[in-house]
Amino acid sequence: MPEIACINGEFCPLAEARVPIEDRGYQFADGVYEVIVTRDGEPFLMDAHLDRMARSLRLINLPLDPRALGIPQWINAGIERCAFAEVMVYVQVTRGVAARNHNFPDGIAPNVILTFKPKPVYPVKLREGGVELKTLADIRWARCSIKSIALLPNILLKEQARQAGGFDALIVDPAGIVRETSCANVFIVTEQCVRTPPKSDRILHGITREHVLDCCARLGLMAREEDFTIDDLRAADEAFITSSTMDVMPVTRVDDRAVGTGQVGEITQRLAACFDAEFPLVESRRN
Ligand code: PLP
Repeated sequence: MPEIACINGEFCPLAEARVPIEDRGYQFADGVYEVIVTRDGEPFLMDAHLDRMARSLRLINLPLDPRALGIPQWINAGIERCAFAEVMVYVQVTRGVAARNHNFPDGIAPNVILTFKPKPVYPVKLREGGVELKTLADIRWARCSIKSIALLPNILLKEQARQAGGFDALIVDPAGIVRETSCANVFIVTEQCVRTPPKSDRILHGITREHVLDCCARLGLMAREEDFTIDDLRAADEAFITSSTMDVMPVTRVDDRAVGTGQVGEITQRLAACFDAEFPLVESRRN
């Protein structure tokens, strides 16, 4: 009996199951999942799994009811169809398919996919002898220097900032140290000195960030890769953020307060101009 899948209620062999590559689960890890197994052929602790899935969905601002989506019926139908002795059901709900953009898209339908495979059997040897573990630091959600597709924390922060009326989220650690935004590196200018957080596991090592530091050198501007606090940013003369799609984007307000004069700063403008001078855009793309 082959392994099977179910995509939004349509069953097919697992090997033939397809979702579009712009599914937000694939591009942002913007989704949640459960694994439910059978015992004696029946889904085990299904209510608890569905309750946890409802909670996970709420926590990613996708407040859907797994029961109302039809998931229990699909689980039961799949278990019956695949006819394995005991089944492992994987259930995934993503925000759906939309052109790739961190911002939550409007008006799209979620994608609900299920797969049905035999429940794994672990060797008796392990049950009898037990297993060995190795201690490691908890790095989960902490390796920001990996340009990972697991962008769920980033998109949740960006959405929160947008709902509060901001353009992006400024990510600050518990000690008040500024890290970056959900999708860009951060710079400040204080008394003619350009500063950006140093490369570490807490930020993405932006290619644009590096190029801006080169521009600083070329313009003879003082530039330092060093940590600064949110208070330093509030007191700074200028601030800007950088990324491949935005290049140099001035920041004039943080949390309803003006940065510097509240106008785009002179050094920010010089760095943006340095960018454009060296690598001009085609005329029709300038704005
Ligand atoms: N920081 C984060 C979290 C990002 O996702 C990005 C770009 O996607 C950047 C910084 C800027 O990187 P780059 O200049 O290489 O585009």
